[in-house]
Amino acid sequence: MHLFEYKNGEIYCEGVRLARIAAEVGTPVYVYSAGTLAHHFNAFDSPFSGVPHITCYSVKSNSNVSVIRLFAGLGSGVDIVSGGELFRALKAGVDPQKIVFSGVGKQRPEMDAALAAGILMFNVESHDELVALDAAARAAGKRARISLRVNPDVDPATHPYLATGLKKSKFGIPIAKAFDGYLHAKTLPGIEIAGIDCHIGSQVTSVEPFVDAIRKVLVFTRRLSDAAIALQYFDIGGGLGITYDEEKPPHPVEYAGEVIRELADSGFKIIFEPGRVIVGNAGVLVTRALYPKENEAKRFVVVDAAMNDLIRPSLYGAFHAIKPVVPRDGAQAMVDVVGPVCESGDFLAQDRLMPPVERGDLLAVMSAGAYGFSMASNYNSRPRPAEVLVEGDTYRVIRERETLEDLVRGETPPQV
Ligand SMILES: *Cc1c(COP(=O)(O)O)cnc(C)c1O
Repeated sequence: MHLFEYKNGEIYCEGVRLARIAAEVGTPVYVYSAGTLAHHFNAFDSPFSGVPHITCYSVKSNSNVSVIRLFAGLGSGVDIVSGGELFRALKAGVDPQKIVFSGVGKQRPEMDAALAAGILMFNVESHDELVALDAAARAAGKRARISLRVNPDVDPATHPYLATGLKKSKFGIPIAKAFDGYLHAKTLPGIEIAGIDCHIGSQVTSVEPFVDAIRKVLVFTRRLSDAAIALQYFDIGGGLGITYDEEKPPHPVEYAGEVIRELADSGFKIIFEPGRVIVGNAGVLVTRALYPKENEAKRFVVVDAAMNDLIRPSLYGAFHAIKPVVPRDGAQAMVDVVGPVCESGDFLAQDRLMPPVERGDLLAVMSAGAYGFSMASNYNSRPRPAEVLVEGDTYRVIRERETLEDLVRGETPPQV
């Protein structure tokens, strides 16, 4: 479900015309629907209402403070992967007791900040990180609550860049090694063992890989309890996929049913780290057509958004539906939708059948709420787009469009 629909021949976000936002805020612009964000959060979270759990929204999927705050207001925690995301989460008012900190390369200042904030737990991904965290916690006079992130070696059947739980992955600790990791953790005075964690990948469109991972990790937790290592939390990560094109991911209710069946009797408090499934279809990138052009081989529509604004097509070959905000009548044609960036890999769509698009027309790049703005860059010295949050009949700019001065902020002025 999402609230971007045609009414009276043009696309609205909830009660606001996308064309109005484009006229008033400019393009390219990210537009998020508050109603859809809330609906998706609740759709994910409420099926688990009968079991002890915390939904920890994955901040990296959409890191705008207003978006994080919206979820915090619905009771969400967060999964963070950097000190920067911790900073954002605290600004957004997230309860530190609902923050989990993942990532393979946590640095001492990040650990110190998270310890000072009193976060729920660190998902530790290596032996050396455990030792470093122990030292940080002791220096702070605290104990760091931890899970070890284990690598269950399951294939999530997703894009190779999005698979994180395979043997060859940089993420997590192989289950075969994790036992020694827990024994070691038990001896460290700055460490308190709290749980176990895994995250198998992203844009996973069937429930089996999650079930496989849970079963493998559960077998392992029994070994731990036999060794008198008691765990409170079972963090199964994020990764549930969405429909960009024709994918048929399980509905959150189906996912929840399977997870609850596997874990209900385990006594664990379950932690989820969903990102894409909540924000992905709650946002669009609105862009304006600059120049239609064609050569011997192809037709192009050059638009004012580019790979620096939305890198998923370039990086993963990802599909995003692109819809004219005010469709024109006429024959469809096969086009590439491309940006102004000086890279042949700069495209938003390739070989896409589209109704006629003329100079000045607005296009909505759909399903851009996740890994859109949060992966944006300033490549080609392009200021990053504005972000807008729509609520009913009103909207709010939740991030100003960057200015040219923003581009050079922090650079040393040339000496003349
Ligand atoms: C990226 C990530 C997530 C969120 O993944 P989605 O596919 O957006 O749900 C959750 N946990 C960890 C550790 C991650 O790296």
